[in-house]
Amino acid sequence: MKAIRVHQFGDPQVLQLVDAPDPRPGSHQALIRVRCAGVNPVETYIRSGKYGRLPPLPYTPGSDAAGEIEVVGPDVHRWKPGDRVYTSGSLTGVYAEKTLCRCNQIHPLPDAVTFEQGAAVGVPYATAWRALFQRGRAAPGESVLVHGASGGVGIAAVQIARAHGLRVIGTAGTEAGRRLVAEQGAHHVLDHRQPDYPAALLDLTGNHGVHLVLEMLANVNLGRDLSLLARHGRIVIIGSRGPIEINPRDAMSRDADILGMMLFNAPEAELEMVHAALVAGLERGFLQPVVGRRLPVANAAEAHRLILEPGALGKIVLQT
Ligand code: NAP
Repeated sequence: MKAIRVHQFGDPQVLQLVDAPDPRPGSHQALIRVRCAGVNPVETYIRSGKYGRLPPLPYTPGSDAAGEIEVVGPDVHRWKPGDRVYTSGSLTGVYAEKTLCRCNQIHPLPDAVTFEQGAAVGVPYATAWRALFQRGRAAPGESVLVHGASGGVGIAAVQIARAHGLRVIGTAGTEAGRRLVAEQGAHHVLDHRQPDYPAALLDLTGNHGVHLVLEMLANVNLGRDLSLLARHGRIVIIGSRGPIEINPRDAMSRDADILGMMLFNAPEAELEMVHAALVAGLERGFLQPVVGRRLPVANAAEAHRLILEPGALGKIVLQT
């Protein structure tokens, strides 16, 4: 099979397309023919070698794919060859024509959901769900600021929050991004590059502030987020690319909670609940992943450059 391999950490060009042997499934494992692979920002941090958890070299990046089961290993009863699936993790990496997964990393992909949409589900939708409900304790009728709503996690959060009765305010840095966020269900959309967006947000909430913030760039926004929060509000830190100074009094005066989250830390039982909910949403059609850009897997290096540029429009996927 063709696969991307990283032999040394570094710039995007270390993502090389090579011929590799097909992996063979062991007990409770299946081999999946990957049709599309999702690209997540964390894969760029890992590739550069500047991340807390690094795989042994060489490795094939990626955890989110969609495709069909090709071969099942011993003791696999739930899946058979030909089943359409999406993945939330992989033993051998998904930037490849085939990937080996444990059965608990495989989920059914409803017929109405395309492979490229399926590749957009794993990390972004699970992160959005966990941030909203398992960490952020979102409740119908509350307001949520999806701060950075135009990317993979943001679009997922907007769709999920809207379907669960929250009042959704999303932000994006481009006109096209803001249009997309509105189309995906946000009640209001603001421009996080405009200095007056905090005032507009307070205005939208009658000066009470929002109940929940899902924050994609905490090193830029966390201090200001605290001043935009309602009493007993919560901020879930999903993304951050550096340190920031905050005024703790802004948290004290609101009885506010600042909650970190890392999807890798989620207990297995809670992830099972998340994927049960995501599959239901995909089946019933209230979750419809948005793919903004698609590239051949050979162009993985370009995808790694693109995902760190401003102007997100949903998900970037690789076709295999
Ligand atoms: P993405 O598709 O690249 O989207 C990035 C988002 O950040 C875009 O909506 C972008 O908006 C927005 N953004 C840019 N500047 C911003 C600003 N000043 N304020 C608010 N938002 C801003 O990435 P993603 O997959 O959605 O992931 C988002 C972040 O969460 C990344 O840092 C990623 O590493 C992290 N993440 C963490 C976890 C976890 O488990 N904690 C899981 C998944 C992702 P414009 O491009 O429109 O400006």
